[in-house]
Amino acid sequence: MLDTLRRIVQEVNSATDLRTALDLMARRVRDAMGTEVCSIYLLNRDRQRYVLMASEGLKAEAVGHVSLDVTEGLVGHVGQREEPLNLEDAFTHPKFLYLAETGEDPFHAFLGVPVMHQGEVLGVLVVQQRDSRRFDQSEEAFLVTISAQLSAVVAHARATGDLTTDSSGGEPEPAFFDGLPGAQGAAIGIAIRVYPSADLSSVPDREAEDINAEIALLDNALVKARHEVRALAERASRSLGREEQALFEVYLRMLDRHALPGEVVEKIRAGQWAQGALRMVIDEHVRNFELMDDAYLRERAADVRDIGRRVLAHLQSDQRREVEYPAETVLVGEEITTAMLMEVPRENIVGIATSRGSRNSHMAIVARSMGIPTVVGAAGLPLKQLDGREVIVDGFKGRLIANANSELKHQFEAIILEEKSLLAGLEKLRDLPAETEDGKRIDIMVNTGLMTDISRSLERGAEGVGLYRTEIPFMVRDRFPSEDEQKVIYREQLEAFAPHPVTMRTLDVGGDKELPYFPIEEENPFLGWRGIRLTLDHPEIFMVQIRAMLKASEGLDNLRIMLPMVTTVFEVEEAQHLIHRAWLEVRGEGFDVVMPPVGVMIEVPAAVYQARALAQRVDFLSIGTNDLTQYLLAVDRNNRQVAALYNSWHPAVLQAIIHVIESAHAEGKPVSVCGEMAGDPASALMLMAMGVDTLSMNASHLLRVKAAIRKMKITAARKLLFEVLAMDNGEVIASYISLQLDKAGLGDLISHRRAV
Ligand code: PEP
Ligand code: MG
Repeated sequence: MLDTLRRIVQEVNSATDLRTALDLMARRVRDAMGTEVCSIYLLNRDRQRYVLMASEGLKAEAVGHVSLDVTEGLVGHVGQREEPLNLEDAFTHPKFLYLAETGEDPFHAFLGVPVMHQGEVLGVLVVQQRDSRRFDQSEEAFLVTISAQLSAVVAHARATGDLTTDSSGGEPEPAFFDGLPGAQGAAIGIAIRVYPSADLSSVPDREAEDINAEIALLDNALVKARHEVRALAERASRSLGREEQALFEVYLRMLDRHALPGEVVEKIRAGQWAQGALRMVIDEHVRNFELMDDAYLRERAADVRDIGRRVLAHLQSDQRREVEYPAETVLVGEEITTAMLMEVPRENIVGIATSRGSRNSHMAIVARSMGIPTVVGAAGLPLKQLDGREVIVDGFKGRLIANANSELKHQFEAIILEEKSLLAGLEKLRDLPAETEDGKRIDIMVNTGLMTDISRSLERGAEGVGLYRTEIPFMVRDRFPSEDEQKVIYREQLEAFAPHPVTMRTLDVGGDKELPYFPIEEENPFLGWRGIRLTLDHPEIFMVQIRAMLKASEGLDNLRIMLPMVTTVFEVEEAQHLIHRAWLEVRGEGFDVVMPPVGVMIEVPAAVYQARALAQRVDFLSIGTNDLTQYLLAVDRNNRQVAALYNSWHPAVLQAIIHVIESAHAEGKPVSVCGEMAGDPASALMLMAMGVDTLSMNASHLLRVKAAIRKMKITAARKLLFEVLAMDNGEVIASYISLQLDKAGLGDLISHRRAV
């Protein structure tokens, strides 16, 4: 059964369009289950009807024409109940609806399962049989499994443009690809796919501009590939046996002008560019080999793929033509690196969307700093098909939209305009304090990491740095920066903000923050070797960093040191001991520096409950709500699948924050919040009402938060806080706060409400 499943999925996945995929699916499922009918109904969301999209066994004329309302018939019933329906005799079911056009009258046995994707019904898969009989458990299990596997194919097709779910030829439905917000904001632009070289699967379809030139490029690449294989064979002859050498003969035969290349040329003549044509031919052969029963022949698929990759590498080195980036480019790719981002002129990029990657990748950090709306981790992005098409990036909600209808487009155009005018209007707040209408003030600081953050922060009137993520300058290098190199970088931050404080967090790598030159392989990176755990195991790295910070602060005395991922008081004592030692060393070397205040980040539940003990030992606490939320709720902050559960309004998170504030204040120590919550105007107001002393956020959120504070009374914020603390549901709290702040005239400032 597994084998049959695998083959069906493989075949369907490699179909070039949805119609072919669905036809194949219907045929293969009917054959595999030995039923008389297999039909696929897909939901047309606009019309709220299930359309018969493919069928083996029902009348061919019905396909694309017959449809049912979402509440009609057995199909509608399966969709509504979102579970399988297995009937010995469909005719006797009260929901049975006879559709004469399909010719289904002779079929009694009915088994229907919903096609579900991310909690949404996309359609219904049905098998039918003439005789009355109940499908057995294993048949039901088979259909459920195949439907689950194939739902991804349907979801994927939603964006390919051929997902007009009936033959009425109407506009394709908008396609939504959910990921995570990488950088807030919205943008509309043309998707331009960026991809790493020599990766066949990521080569897009593209029309050949000059067919003869494409053929010449291919010939040239083939000459080089043959040469390469001969050289390999030559090298192999010295170390391998005869059998292995025979492999290269096979390679050379495949590269013969009359073999694979002949087919590639045919595709080029039909209008594809050389890279696209190569991908098509290689894909076809790989698929054929993989479907073979003979294990030896199946293995050949890998050889074909290898040949393809080699030819592609040569093609790409000859064909690395300058990509033309439209004025409004949305970069899309599996994983986009900072280097890829830098290849595009800044004024041309309006948005970014990736199918992998995390919010803490270096690229996402850079995008936030540059203010480019970004979506990360939108798995299932049909990158090939998106290339060159208009898309919308919704960086508030973390989704990419393709096939947007005019209504949706207008909504986003309005949001983009509103954002622009809102931000322009906020600039006048630059030098005004973050003070409520009734006179309560709070310190507003910035989170930095990149050099460019400095000017952006100062332009917006930042009153110091609440979190300098030192791992960022570590990420862009190919080795640990030396003490002197670090000193120069840190000095720049300290000088730029002096006399305001700059809170430097010691190296926080591990989890999803990787250093290319210090790979950490772990089953559970977020519960593993990260932050202070790693640096205490490597005091040489820690000491160099502290010494560089101290030296950089000479004459400025505005340095504060902060420790990430603290779980025990022992870690703090150990770190303090090292910091003290570094301070003595630095002073011994003649640097006239004061001992800086040292603080602890509260970002794991254990630290919440030990907040008082920690506060006794240090000078300040800072709550990292990004990690605190993920650890309290046991929700990976980078996992799109559980993104809806990641909610900092969860009562447990709010209670934890209050507990930390009370504990710190009981010890006479200040508390700041430096996670994303601080940069969200609604959360910022509640944090202020809770008694937080400082809010530290990305510079791009600063003026918006300041505006919200200046429009509110602290008494009103406290009253609202009091009300929500009595609530037990994070979703309800979020909506209630939005509603109340909207009423108070702050609606335009609350960004998370913006996404459509
Ligand atoms: C946090 O966890 O809230 C935080 C500020 O740190 P980071 O996002 O860098 O992990
Ligand atoms: Mg953190």
